[in-house]
Amino acid sequence: MATPFEEVASSSLLSQQIKRLYNTGRLLGLDDETVEALATPERVLEVKMTIRLKDGRVRTFVGWRSQHNSALGPYKGGVRYHPSSTRDEVVALSMMMTWKNSLLLLPFGGGKGGIRVDPKTLDKEDLEKLSRKYIQQIYMYIGSDKDIPAPDVNTDSQVMAWFLDEYIKVTGRQDFGAFTGKPVEIGGIAVREYSTGLGVATIAKMAAEKFLNGIEGKTVIVQGFGNVGTYTVKFLSEMGAKVIGVSDSKGGVIDPEGLDYNELLNVKKATGSVMNYPKGKKVTNEELLTSECDILIPAALENVIHRGNAEKVKAKLIVEAANGPLTADADLTMKRRGIPVVPDILANAGGVVGSYVEWANNKMGEILEEEEQKKLVISRMEKAFNAVYTEYQKLGDVDLRTAAMALAVERVYKAMKAMGQL
Ligand code: GLU
Repeated sequence: MATPFEEVASSSLLSQQIKRLYNTGRLLGLDDETVEALATPERVLEVKMTIRLKDGRVRTFVGWRSQHNSALGPYKGGVRYHPSSTRDEVVALSMMMTWKNSLLLLPFGGGKGGIRVDPKTLDKEDLEKLSRKYIQQIYMYIGSDKDIPAPDVNTDSQVMAWFLDEYIKVTGRQDFGAFTGKPVEIGGIAVREYSTGLGVATIAKMAAEKFLNGIEGKTVIVQGFGNVGTYTVKFLSEMGAKVIGVSDSKGGVIDPEGLDYNELLNVKKATGSVMNYPKGKKVTNEELLTSECDILIPAALENVIHRGNAEKVKAKLIVEAANGPLTADADLTMKRRGIPVVPDILANAGGVVGSYVEWANNKMGEILEEEEQKKLVISRMEKAFNAVYTEYQKLGDVDLRTAAMALAVERVYKAMKAMGQL
């Protein structure tokens, strides 16, 4: 029978993750059987959602919830809606959540969900039906002490509100901590909306201090203008960096004079894409990634920097705001070229730290002041960055990802060992 490792040749993100885990295992002195136990998800739900659309058509969608590892606590991670979502992608992303939550010292294991759908082609009412159906299919496996979904690509606080409402209906339990990233009216917290971007900016600033003599005046390119990209641009602009390029799925813009955050928001709202920014030059996403800048921040989807374009990247520092934007090949290229890459499990962890604060508040039945929430997110991120940087120096000839993975995997390994699972 094929082992989980042999089965995954079809999915690049999952095979990359397994490769990275193997390398980390070797560094930590773990044998292959232990790595196999760390790699394999505990449970993967595959569900069907058949709904009748507003226009009368019946359509069937598939989705997943992958519960990767619960040694450190209930599974935690987002749910994405994307036309190219697959089971393997969701499993890979759930594995990354295990390492992310471990690295940030959160009391969570790793999980992730996905529905294969292009939400832009669905009416709001149909999207609500689909979201509710997804919860009807997985409710018995989730809850504030089991598995806590949150927003991810193309999902937001509105989707979480539908999830929670449906969950309460089908379970009869007022378990508000079962989802995070909720609207503030139903137990959400203000900081969660922007905590991923705040975390990315905090980490970019710390990395710039170590590798580029500070963030002030540094030129930045951000690929992606969804929740993560927008707030990353906002906070980095406030910190004195000069954002010169942004893009969304339709295309991008570059202006060496700098882009104005509010103007970008207006253009996106009015025309549907930042590429219609009135100044600068229109570029494709591919051109954007290989344009001149100090800091490149891929904040959209996975595998955008790969063997084919890694050599052409001109940035001096890369901060992974998306999950998995660099392939394992790209990692090797950047290491050889001396370009530091701050890995996703550190750089974009502000989102799940915000979720942690929300979940803890829901559990305590109390809501912290926004300034306190913000301070908590920033201090957790700073602490994690310092831990990774120290490990990076200690290990010597490794990249930042290897250092982060070593810390994260070791903690999960020790928890599994303590419980007698290994
Ligand atoms: N979807 C985000 C991530 O990839 C946040 C997950 C969460 O808050 O649970 O980290």
